Amino acid sequence: MFIGHFALGYAAKRWVPQVSLGVLFAAVALADVIWPVLVAVGIEHVRIAPGITAFTPLEFISYPYSHSLAALVLWGALFGWICSRPRPASVATGTSIGIFVVMLALVLSHWVLDFITHIPDMPLYPGGARYGLGLWNSVAGTLAVEVAMFVVGVSIYARATRARDRIGTWAFAGLVGFLLIGFVSNVSAPPPPSVSALWIVAVALSGLIITLAHWTDRHRASR
Ligand SMILES: [Zn+2]
Repeated sequence: MFIGHFALGYAAKRWVPQVSLGVLFAAVALADVIWPVLVAVGIEHVRIAPGITAFTPLEFISYPYSHSLAALVLWGALFGWICSRPRPASVATGTSIGIFVVMLALVLSHWVLDFITHIPDMPLYPGGARYGLGLWNSVAGTLAVEVAMFVVGVSIYARATRARDRIGTWAFAGLVGFLLIGFVSNVSAPPPPSVSALWIVAVALSGLIITLAHWTDRHRASR
């Protein structure tokens, strides 16, 4: 899944208003942030195989450390712990536990959403059986589900926050448009020319999207 992950990141702002949208995006996309790094160093493996699904030409041969449910429990607990550590400004304990639970859930949501979209390649644990419902076999189904999720998530964020200034309005609109147009235009895009090009673009895109989300959020206030 692509923008469906960010839909959950936007929506989560309503429940943890003190956490930046950039951090929420990093949580929902954490598996996809770790993955290109592990592909680059040769620990995880992907093949460009046009036609393997209707929506994406990628065959995920092995990604036990970025995309297994067991690994994501560990990554989610680590990410949640980092985000919920008390700050010098002193955060109440209840709030810290709330942040930990939300961040862990967001990191794990990646597995659930990828399980829905991927063909059976999502492992429960490294070396374990692999599962997937294969929504990617239908372009129309993928677009319908992800765009609907995205519209709901963005509207929850829009209602939970308000622009502090013009950047808060235009950066918000720009990021939403960038994600939506990028996702829809991906349907007719040619497959990546090589695995190196794939992981380089993946690292650059996730860095850009998380940075833009953080920047947008700094120019918006919680209602
Ligand atoms: Zn993923």
